[in-house]
Amino acid sequence: MQTVPSTEKSGNEHLLRIAAELISTSNHAVVFTGAGISTHSGIPDFRSPDSGLWNQHDPFEVASIWAFSHHPETFFDWIRPLSITAEAAEPNKAHKAIAELERQGYVKSVITQNIDGLHQKSGSKKVLELHGSARTATCSHCGKKHEQDYFKRIIIRENGIPQCVNCGKTIKPDVVLFGEALPREVWNEAYHECLLTDLIIVVGSSLEVTPANTLPDMAKRNGAKLIINNLGPTHLDSRADLLLKMDVVEGIGILAEFL
Ligand code: ZN
Repeated sequence: MQTVPSTEKSGNEHLLRIAAELISTSNHAVVFTGAGISTHSGIPDFRSPDSGLWNQHDPFEVASIWAFSHHPETFFDWIRPLSITAEAAEPNKAHKAIAELERQGYVKSVITQNIDGLHQKSGSKKVLELHGSARTATCSHCGKKHEQDYFKRIIIRENGIPQCVNCGKTIKPDVVLFGEALPREVWNEAYHECLLTDLIIVVGSSLEVTPANTLPDMAKRNGAKLIINNLGPTHLDSRADLLLKMDVVEGIGILAEFL
């Protein structure tokens, strides 16, 4: 395992060259992203205790399936500003670099814990959203899926609570709330990707959220090489093949330049 302080520019370049070599010699590289990649785009991490989001709210009171079912006004008052922020956010250099690595054939899929849609906005094609997406909404009563435009119009522009166009019940954003399981099909596909991969690149995740954080672990145990680009520590640091202890825009964000 190789690492140097992030202040040493030449050291960073050396590490990025090693990362580029690992990517160019891999057959099935997979990127695993967390909130740290989107903070540069102004998106707070809605599950993290240190995001500042929970200073005024108990997450279970506003962001749980219980809150959605019992206090929809409170729930939508909570999610509305987050939706407005996500709507206005633009992908940053790290998102764009991952999309470019996929376009060039190096990266086969992106597994993300984020719900902001910024990977898709930057051009990534195969994106597995473990915690769902804030872009669409589904009626939990009749199953009707509602597209982004309808959901955004009601909650952002009309400041309302979106009702199902079929049955009139309140529709829920396709975000995994506290108290809900991860979407099974997405999970299965992400799991499969982690069995196939020979190089998993963790970007902007401290790997604290379970069960998402078990995927890189599983890939590593299955023989994949592991690169971690995260400023803070993770529980897999000691087992990583390469640690990029640098900001994501200075890490994966410029990696393509070394390929
Ligand atoms: Zn319905």
